[in-house]
Amino acid sequence: MTQLSNRVAVITGASSGIGRATAKLLAARGAKVAVLARRGDMLEQLVAEIRAAGGTAMALTVDVTDQASIDKAAATIEQSWGPANLVFNNAGVMLPAAIEARETGPWEQQIDLNVTGAMRVISAFVPQLLKSAEAGATVDLVNTSSIAAQNIYPYFAVYSATKAYVSHLTRHLRAELGPKNVRVSVIEPGCTDTELQGHFQFPGAIAWLEGAKQTINFLKPEDVAEVVGFLATQPKHVNLQQVVVMPTNQA
Ligand code: NDP
Repeated sequence: MTQLSNRVAVITGASSGIGRATAKLLAARGAKVAVLARRGDMLEQLVAEIRAAGGTAMALTVDVTDQASIDKAAATIEQSWGPANLVFNNAGVMLPAAIEARETGPWEQQIDLNVTGAMRVISAFVPQLLKSAEAGATVDLVNTSSIAAQNIYPYFAVYSATKAYVSHLTRHLRAELGPKNVRVSVIEPGCTDTELQGHFQFPGAIAWLEGAKQTINFLKPEDVAEVVGFLATQPKHVNLQQVVVMPTNQA
């Protein structure tokens, strides 16, 4: 039996970066993986790669700012494979800017995706996680936060606050769901080489990024995926609450 062969995994933000790498890793270890994001073509490509490697996957086009689209995906997953027992709640966006730039659109976008979007996913899947736990399965809810939840970076105030929300939320949910045998974890990665920074518009943030790329050896998405795999393969009674994973040379 492979390590995760009894797992029904749901991964948001799976069309690129950390989510994509995690889908491949969990599938390679035997989990059935449902991959969720907006870009259906990229999800289909991922599913084809997983299947070609002998894994099991399904693509579901979902916008996590739309509760109905998440609920629909949750119902499809449960009907196809039974209740989910591993949710990697990972979709996010990072749009840094100076506060005086008053970029209210990007503030709202980050809050709607990173905060409310994460909550929408939790609300759609917690009933399935509880059902799985009641049936005796090993169950994980893993939320993606960031080192920005702890460290201080100019221009990243709003993004960092959304991630601090995710980290704090995780601690509270663990207290609530742990006694019901649902493990709840947060991962807080440092700089990781993905599409995330490609959305930057603010010149000061772009300059920061260029400097960071010259001095920091960014994590690869696969490095972060390994952390999710590690959490998921712990014995059932072990819940790593919070994992910070950093590039070695990022302060
Ligand atoms: P990517 O930009 O590569 O991935 C973001 C994912 O989120 C994509 O799959 C994107 O897919 C999805 N997404 C964006 N908006 C929506 C939406 N409205 N509905 C559904 N899915 C959406 O970046 P990362 O892999 O780096 O980001 C993954 C997580 O890691 C994020 O939460 C990010 O904040 C966090 N993180 C990243 C770090 C880094 O340095 N890269 C460091 C610390 C944390 P699509 O566009 O197809 O919808």
